[in-house]
Amino acid sequence: MKDIKSFNTEELKNEMKSIGEPAFRAGQIFEWLHKKKVGSFEEMTNLSKDLRQKLSENFEITTLAEVRSLKSEDGTVKFLYKLKDGQVIESVLMSYKHGHSICVSSQVGCRMGCMFCASTIDGLVRNLTPSEILEQVYEAERSCNVTISNIVIMGSGEPMDNYDNVIKFIRLISDEKGKNLSVRNITLSTCGLVPGIRKLAEEGLPVTLALSLHAPEDELRKTIMPVAKAFSIDEILKACDFYFEKTSRRVTFEYSLIDGVNDSVSCAEKLARLIKGKNCHVNLIPINRIKERNFSKSREDNISKFKNTLEKNRINVTIRRSMGTDIDAACGQLRRSFMEESN
Ligand code: SAH
Repeated sequence: MKDIKSFNTEELKNEMKSIGEPAFRAGQIFEWLHKKKVGSFEEMTNLSKDLRQKLSENFEITTLAEVRSLKSEDGTVKFLYKLKDGQVIESVLMSYKHGHSICVSSQVGCRMGCMFCASTIDGLVRNLTPSEILEQVYEAERSCNVTISNIVIMGSGEPMDNYDNVIKFIRLISDEKGKNLSVRNITLSTCGLVPGIRKLAEEGLPVTLALSLHAPEDELRKTIMPVAKAFSIDEILKACDFYFEKTSRRVTFEYSLIDGVNDSVSCAEKLARLIKGKNCHVNLIPINRIKERNFSKSREDNISKFKNTLEKNRINVTIRRSMGTDIDAACGQLRRSFMEESN
């Protein structure tokens, strides 16, 4: 069975041809799937019964089965979904004054091995398909009756390690015949896979690039992020400059503050030297403790000193206050606790 929700209109046209249907059906079906967001062929009422039957014999519509949803005191909703093959993924809906934003996962698990992250502990299980990433958005909209205007690809997984499916997802969600979400309202976060950053710069998709830096020096970075052994900070920054050159989009550097590891004033000074003069933004994330790892969150006074040091150097910086910590909202934690209970 073919995954019909992962096809763009061009591909759908070819699919229609292959089952002996006129090309214009593609537009109708695309709209049912991506605008009206139906979950079955039965609901596609402007198609004949015969065609609906034929479609259901050849294609399947990806849906996610909600196994749990948790609402935090701050309004954040965390969803846990089961996929067709029994795998479980999570996404987080965050509501702000200016609208609703969702953090989607791009893979089941992750193979990047960052030491402070819960998603990577059991390695990569598999890539998500474009439709499985899309459904995280559609399902949250259905379930909470909201319109999502911002997407961050910052859930479990490394989007650059599932490049083609993530790009397809971005193109589908921004398709004017579908949800038509502005590409500029999408942020893609990567641990720094340089070839992916360079390729993305030339896709003609001006998403915001968020780069998980977390350390101002390669040696320190290697101790918390194995991917640092493959790409140096220097190569990463050059790729980010290239991204800015091509897209005119200001790059965000994410820096998770870990007590006693990367949160000293000297680290802040080194970071400032690295990025001074660049059109960029630093997002400090006081680390969310995960029980499997021995890292803890920086002390409040160190967080302030770190921020002040960057500000003194005229670097745009914000602190990301974690939302939904009362519901295990951080990176793969809910999925892990669910799997532990199920075992
Ligand atoms: N793989 C991508 C996207 C997923 S992680 C990436 O590395 O960017 C999204 C962000 O959360 C990354 O900056 C990641 O380093 C950070 N992160 C992971 N676990 C965390 C934790 N326990 N506390 C704070 N930030 C964490």
